[in-house]
Order: sequence, then structure tokens, then C-alpha cells
Amino acid sequence: MRIFIDFNFEAAHHLPHSFPDGHVNQRLHGHSFRVRVSLQGRPDPKTGLIADLGAVKTTVDSAKDALDHRYLNEIAGLELPTLETIAIWLWRRIAPDLPALAEIGIYRDSCGEGCEYQGEFETVEEAA
Ligand SMILES: [Zn+2]
Repeated sequence: MRIFIDFNFEAAHHLPHSFPDGHVNQRLHGHSFRVRVSLQGRPDPKTGLIADLGAVKTTVDSAKDALDHRYLNEIAGLELPTLETIAIWLWRRIAPDLPALAEIGIYRDSCGEGCEYQGEFETVEEAA
């Protein structure tokens, strides 16, 4: 069973090395991002809860504040701010506080695009 909490943030980025020369993503631009943080487990028989989503929200709000209305390329660890690296960055930031963390989904709904990450590697270099 999974529970989740969603949040949205707005941010700017550019991707100078991820696409061919002249691609629009090389230029500075912005997105509205939606993030879904999913926790997996069994509900505690006494509380009926997998986790207290209010406490989860406190952790998630700190990560949101670090991203919202920012220029992502300037954030340490997000010099290459793709959906994939933002998902990994979020995982590394919040996983220590959320032992039941199962997935981070990051979506650009206006483009119909997203990335869902289950913590299977810790960097894009390690994924190679
Ligand atoms: Zn973009």
C-alpha cells in the first residue's frame, strides 16, 4: 500500500549540454513542476496510518522551498537540472527523513512529461 503527498513548484532552468545545438532547451526557460512523494508500507494497526502525512509535509515543504521560484542551474547538485537529476536530488534530500519513501515522481503536466524514480541509483554517473 502506498500513500502520497503532492506539491508544485515553479522554476527556471536551461540545459546547454543535454540537447543538440540550437535546441530550445538550451535557452533559459521556466516550468510548472508537480512532484509526488510516495511512501510504501503497512498501516500501523493502532493508528491506521503508514505515516503521518503532516510530518511528511514538513519534510517536503523544506525541499519545495529550496526549488520554488529558483534558477535550478544555480542550486548545488542541480547544475544539470533535468527531470531525472531533480528526482535524484529530491530523493537524496528527503529520504533520510522518510524511511518508507518508495517513489518520487516529477511531472511537467503542461508537456505531458515526467520522471518516476525509486532510488535505484544515487547519481546519473552511477546509472551509466
Ligand atoms: Zn525545461
